[in-house]
Amino acid sequence: MSSQGVLSHYKPYLPVTDKTPHLSLGEGDTPLVRANALSQETGCDIFFKLEGCNPTGSFKDRGMVVAVAKAQEQGAQTIVCASTGNTSASAAAYAARAGLKCAVLIPSGQIARGKLAQAFAYGANILAIDGNFDRALELTRELAEQFHFAVVNSINPHRLEGQKTAAFEIVDALGRAPDVLALPVGNAGNITAYWKGFKEYATSPRPSPSKGEGAKVSPLDKGGLRGVTLPRMWGFQAEGAAPLVSGKPIAEPHTIATAIKIGNPASWSGAIRARDESGGEISAVSDDEIRAAHSYLASREGIFVEPASAASIAGILKKLRNGNLERGQTIVCVLTGNGLKDVDFVLASGFEIKTLRAEAGALADALEIQV
Ligand SMILES: *Cc1c(COP(=O)(O)O)cnc(C)c1O
Repeated sequence: MSSQGVLSHYKPYLPVTDKTPHLSLGEGDTPLVRANALSQETGCDIFFKLEGCNPTGSFKDRGMVVAVAKAQEQGAQTIVCASTGNTSASAAAYAARAGLKCAVLIPSGQIARGKLAQAFAYGANILAIDGNFDRALELTRELAEQFHFAVVNSINPHRLEGQKTAAFEIVDALGRAPDVLALPVGNAGNITAYWKGFKEYATSPRPSPSKGEGAKVSPLDKGGLRGVTLPRMWGFQAEGAAPLVSGKPIAEPHTIATAIKIGNPASWSGAIRARDESGGEISAVSDDEIRAAHSYLASREGIFVEPASAASIAGILKKLRNGNLERGQTIVCVLTGNGLKDVDFVLASGFEIKTLRAEAGALADALEIQV
């Protein structure tokens, strides 16, 4: 789809009208890359959906482009969101592109610095509060009601509409839905959106983009048939922030994976429906398991993600260890965000550089090469 973006490429599936502005930063169309080491180790056929390749480095762009375009269409001057980081980076970018004001509410001191730098650079008004994400989201709703700002959190249904397009891309790339879709779960918008996307793509007569708008393809035609299967949805939460696993909200969630540090997910019922309708599961992984998976992805697969994105890999590795991973399955892991957003996480784990004498011999010694 080159860089026409989600609104243009998936127009027939989105709430796009003649009045919707053509907003795009080239989001979507992200790579689906085979996991070599992990496939070999598990006996499964595993793929990574590299959502960190979106314009602001996370999947949030897919939904944000729709939410901001619709806000613009409806005459909003200001958009507002609560954020654990990536939503604010994305909102700020699309607001800048659309010429809107953007206010972001963040839990003070709990946002990865790369994300904060993005929101700042794009010119957002950053409001840090002495409360957690869940409180920031409540305040966002209050502000929106009082001042008629457009809320662009995932409680905005346009966000989920845009995010579901990642499911379409996966089906198109594989020629069918995978057996399993694995992803990290925080506010639970993404798992809700993927499930909606897989179901829609499987059942709707598809207007084929290649045949131009309006051309209908029956779901039983070649092309339509590819999507008829549905994946099982495997969601992974961090142990200290796993309300969907325990079944009740958590007042003080904690985890190193700040993007999923959420105690009371806005799309709670959507996540449960995705789990139950798909015959899937939502389970928890520890921060240590997330760290190990993060390092595995970078050092074994060559893919650098932010900590939350490693949760699904942590979950797969855990299932493998426990003997709960059936071989031969096709599994897509959604790698939700780019590693450059949270470099402090990596540098804090014992990274150190010693300055060497500027001589070949000293370098050979450091590399433990015998001369
Ligand atoms: C937002 C986000 C998540 C969590 O997605 P939800 O839709 O809130 O469940 C996971 N990883 C990254 C990198 C994110 O930005």
